[in-house]
Amino acid sequence: MVIAVEELAREMFVLGDIYAQFNCFGPTVIKSFGNEEQKKNFLPKLAKGQLRICLGITDGHSGIDALALKTTTEENSGDFSIKGQKMFVAGAQVSDYVILMTRTTWNLSKKSNGISIFMVDLKTPGITIKRISKLGIKAIDSCELLFDNVRVPRENLLGQKDYGWYQILEVLNYKRIIIAALCVGCAQAAFEDAVQYAKTRVIFSRPIGQYQAIQDYISDMYVKIESARLMIKKAAWLQMNNQTCFIESNMAKLAASEAAVSATSKGMQIMAGYGFMMEHDMQGYWRDSKLFGFAPVTNEMVCNFLAERLGLPRSY
Ligand SMILES: Cc1cc2nc3c(=O)[nH]c(=O)nc-3n(C[C@H](O)[C@H](O)[C@H](O)COP(=O)(O)OP(=O)(O)OC[C@H]3O[C@@H](n4cnc5c(N)ncnc54)[C@H](O)[C@@H]3O)c2cc1C
Repeated sequence: MVIAVEELAREMFVLGDIYAQFNCFGPTVIKSFGNEEQKKNFLPKLAKGQLRICLGITDGHSGIDALALKTTTEENSGDFSIKGQKMFVAGAQVSDYVILMTRTTWNLSKKSNGISIFMVDLKTPGITIKRISKLGIKAIDSCELLFDNVRVPRENLLGQKDYGWYQILEVLNYKRIIIAALCVGCAQAAFEDAVQYAKTRVIFSRPIGQYQAIQDYISDMYVKIESARLMIKKAAWLQMNNQTCFIESNMAKLAASEAAVSATSKGMQIMAGYGFMMEHDMQGYWRDSKLFGFAPVTNEMVCNFLAERLGLPRSY
């Protein structure tokens, strides 16, 4: 999967992102925690492209502090009723369902208890979808979703009620690895364009690729991309073999998103004025790469997680 996603992103970043959004994240949640009926009902249609699902985890006001969410679900004559707001949901306006994280029980000893995951049909009355305009990744919209007493049948509960956070956590490692592969695809595209440009752009009667400053940029891009790629492969190997990969998936996401931001910035520096123009792809790589420093998890939080695992006190 990481090889496929990297290659798609290298050719057309947004295609890799769309593929990851619709084919990797949602289906993995259903595959991991859905019951047999849900798997039978949803997975073949998802695989055939007949159904699309997006992920609604982030609440507007709580951001990266996902457990402070205020989107709530109450049981109502055997079914559920959802109230709240989700922010930045990718592809919601073209999706059939949203996999929604909500709080089902308050007043438990731990914030991580009392969370549940639902498959919500986006055509259900009470849902409003608003598109939000953004800097990059323009072929897939981000949306605000509002839920006003939205009725969800009991059979659309995914996994165990009140244990949704622990379920989602397992899928988040996988998601971080895939996002890292997207970033490396983007960085690789910037690298290839920059090398090509450095070979052909002649200034002071020589190709700019002969100048040491440009060669340093190119070498630095390559080292960061290759380091991130190796981290991704290690994390993916662990995940594939059902081994713990929390540290490795977070490291891969951090290294790959930083490699992408760095490579696209250096790529633009190499192409200078032309890289800034809309007729060249470099400006698009640069805009797209910015997102993954803070989505799906911010790099500051990734550092918090890593530092905690390295023996320092929890900082959040
Ligand atoms: C284009 C786009 C697409 C997205 N798609 C989806 C999607 O499909 N589904 C979904 O559920 N979400 C989605 N998101 C949401 C994304 O996951 C969030 O943007 C992200 O979790 C951060 O939340 P926030 O933007 O509200 O930042 P905030 O939580 O407000 O953070 C602001 C800043 O404070 C820092 N910060 C906060 N707390 C700490 C701390 N304890 N220590 C150090 N630093 C801290 C953060 O790292 C960050 O730098 C998307 C976002 C974008 C921009």
